[in-house]
Amino acid sequence: MPVTAAPTELIPDTGVLIGATRTASTTGGVHHHVYPGDGRATAAVPLGGEAEMDAAVRAAGTALVGWRATAGNVRRDLLLHLAELVERHATELSGLQTLENGCPRQFASVMPTVAVDHLRYNAGWADKIGGAVVPTWPVRAVDYTLDEPYGVVAVIIPWNGPLVSVAQMLAPALAAGNTVVLKPSELAPFTALRLGELALEAGFPPGVVNVVPGGAAGGAALVRHPGVDKVHFTGGGVTARKILADAAERLLPVGLELGGKSAHIIFGDADVRMAARLAMTGVVALSGQGCANGTRVLAHSSVYDEVLRTLAARLARVPLGDPADERTLMGPVVSESACHRILAVVERARDQGDGRLVTGGVRLGGDLGDGYFIAPTVFAEVDPASELAQEEIFGPVLAVTAFDTEEEAIRLANGTRYGLGAYLHTTDLRTAHRVSRAVAAGSVWVNGVPGVLPSAPFGGVRQSGWGRIGGEAGVREFLRPKNVWIAT
Ligand code: NAD
Repeated sequence: MPVTAAPTELIPDTGVLIGATRTASTTGGVHHHVYPGDGRATAAVPLGGEAEMDAAVRAAGTALVGWRATAGNVRRDLLLHLAELVERHATELSGLQTLENGCPRQFASVMPTVAVDHLRYNAGWADKIGGAVVPTWPVRAVDYTLDEPYGVVAVIIPWNGPLVSVAQMLAPALAAGNTVVLKPSELAPFTALRLGELALEAGFPPGVVNVVPGGAAGGAALVRHPGVDKVHFTGGGVTARKILADAAERLLPVGLELGGKSAHIIFGDADVRMAARLAMTGVVALSGQGCANGTRVLAHSSVYDEVLRTLAARLARVPLGDPADERTLMGPVVSESACHRILAVVERARDQGDGRLVTGGVRLGGDLGDGYFIAPTVFAEVDPASELAQEEIFGPVLAVTAFDTEEEAIRLANGTRYGLGAYLHTTDLRTAHRVSRAVAAGSVWVNGVPGVLPSAPFGGVRQSGWGRIGGEAGVREFLRPKNVWIAT
């Protein structure tokens, strides 16, 4: 069946949103957005350049004066109102999400709910931010802290899940009293723009949320702007290094949420079929284009064959295709160039014998030939030192390796430069607790793949970054304590 045409009627007016004004005439060039499902152009996206970043940062700076002085209960209620509007526009927003990056409707339809949860959770913090009383010695004094916002925060996000990314970053930043210049990726600008409009409709004062889609040049102009007080970046390590280099000029604080090469560790006592089903999500969810996807499988040698058999059999039956079809679980990857990049990794692995190709490794043709569909791909007996095991491929490629002992599993799991997540599969609680402590990861999930929870801190160690989103730590990411000491 041919792929359903993209719902282009959902696309909001394109152009940047600065203060309360939409402007389509920009200095950063134009990106021609393409629907990944069928490779057809949908809209010309005007990109922000230096001039628009400057205007947006100024607008955010002007709005900051009133916003940081706005009472916490008012900030709370505005975030709750935005959550309500996201709920009301859920169908439109999930449709936009599918259009932007080809995310299947089945996943996209859950995203507004996730975004709403992040907004409401962080709304609950807005009226609880204060400070603490501090004991002093040897001199008696009254000492207390004031939790203050940074000021103007530049939030730079990738294309793989903009609706959730925007909610995850915007909600704590605003709850903490910062104003924001949000720069979505040029590949997926629509949801962020729509959320910017909804923020105005919810009653946020103009300038508190500014949305300026842009590419690398626009992003760099934003980071270099002297009016920015903090950068919160979600994306890849290569970009992170450039941002850090720019930020170093002004010693600008930067939060980083980066990529990963998270492992599913399947112990011999695990419910193997369940574990293999959960491990499948590493390639199926967002077609492997999720930072926390478990794209390595480390299986105990006693269950290795069964894990592989189950993976191969289930992946062969995964409903893959038209993102608009409600039965579809796996859609396309984001672009033609992503297709080439991912298939080049597969080719290199085959040429170099880095592992044994069990299934997939090809681009799909026929009715799907105009889109960017790659069959779910599994390599077995993967060399832990190989590109397949070490690099974030950001596509539907799973690397499976056997282990014999717990020590070996931990060594393999920790044997990359990343440290975003780890998925443990075991029926022994002692193993779960012991290995949770031993793995180098910002999050450990045992016997489940719950996604990023609003209430729990999520972020990386090592080259997966150093920011935290979610929970109290997520709000603290956008606050800094000021200490006040008064002699008594
Ligand atoms: P990317 O690094 O190419 O781009 C991310 C954002 O940075 C985009 O908005 C891009 O326009 C902007 N950018 C590019 N060059 C810039 C520069 N010099 N200065 C400022 N901004 C610049 O990443 P991507 O391809 O959009 O996303 C994929 C990556 O994001 C993967 O590595 C993935 O793991 C990571 N990611 C991490 C998380 C997390 O929470 N840890 C979540 C989602 C995605």
